[in-house]
Amino acid sequence: MVKIVVVGSASMDLVVTSNKRPGAGETVLGESFKTVPGGKGANQAVAAARLGAEVTMIGCVGDDHYGEIIIRNLEENGVCTSFMKPVTHTESGTAHIVLAEGDNSIVVVKGANDLVTPSYVQQALRPIHEADMVLIQQEIPEETVEYVSQVCHASGVPLLLNPAPARTVSPEVIARASYLTPNEHETEILFPGLTAEEALKQYPNKLFITVGKQGVRYHDGTREVTVPAYPVEAVDTTGAGDTFNAAFAVALAEGKSIAASLRFANRAASLSVMKFGAQGGMPTRQEVEESL
Ligand code: ADP
Repeated sequence: MVKIVVVGSASMDLVVTSNKRPGAGETVLGESFKTVPGGKGANQAVAAARLGAEVTMIGCVGDDHYGEIIIRNLEENGVCTSFMKPVTHTESGTAHIVLAEGDNSIVVVKGANDLVTPSYVQQALRPIHEADMVLIQQEIPEETVEYVSQVCHASGVPLLLNPAPARTVSPEVIARASYLTPNEHETEILFPGLTAEEALKQYPNKLFITVGKQGVRYHDGTREVTVPAYPVEAVDTTGAGDTFNAAFAVALAEGKSIAASLRFANRAASLSVMKFGAQGGMPTRQEVEESL
């Protein structure tokens, strides 16, 4: 089993469906309400564990009921939570999602995810040093991404940076990361002034741009390649990127080639969009292998 460490966010998604989106000062009646565990870090940790990796998550929750549910959900999915700290007098991160009129509106409250600081991660260096791959996203403070990139670089542990949600990333962090996996929008923020073609050419075998149902683009050192996604009936694409990143990390950590890892990741991500919810559709190892 390969060892994956995820340094990232864990949140509770509070999802309301409604026929009408309320305007300013307006109250409307909704149809349903659901709470589902989310956060890019936790989603990627769960996806990697389902795909057969030994996963440790480093993150923070609040000392509230949501924090308990978030940790229990990680454990039920086989993720080690020894480094998931419930922080006193703090709320867990939450995403308040309204699904209305065929689109979503989301308010994110970072809560305890803002406390995943460099000094917090410093107390959890052992699993990072022992990891085959570290996976990190941008729902935690920028300094932490910077710090983890230094630790990984200094100790020779490969780092996959999923630069989502979009924000600017320092050239040092870009240089230290082993793999970068933005979607198209995140690519524009990451490499201002460069076209996707130019950015890919500049970072062969390191930059992988996910392009939704078209799959993923990269440069193999000789030419640009698109690895197509698998055509499926998409029900809910929430979490497709999270499944893609986890699967890509697991396959690379297992020593698969880049091309084979991308096929595996596309397959896992395309299976994930066939079911509702970010974590709801994440496939097991067996489901991916049976469909390859
Ligand atoms: P994000 O969700 O982060 O914006 P993308 O939309 O680029 O990322 O999707 C990530 C990956 O998920 C794609 O590279 C592809 O493998 C898979 N995927 C996304 N949407 C679909 C779809 N409609 N059909 C099949 N695979 C999809």
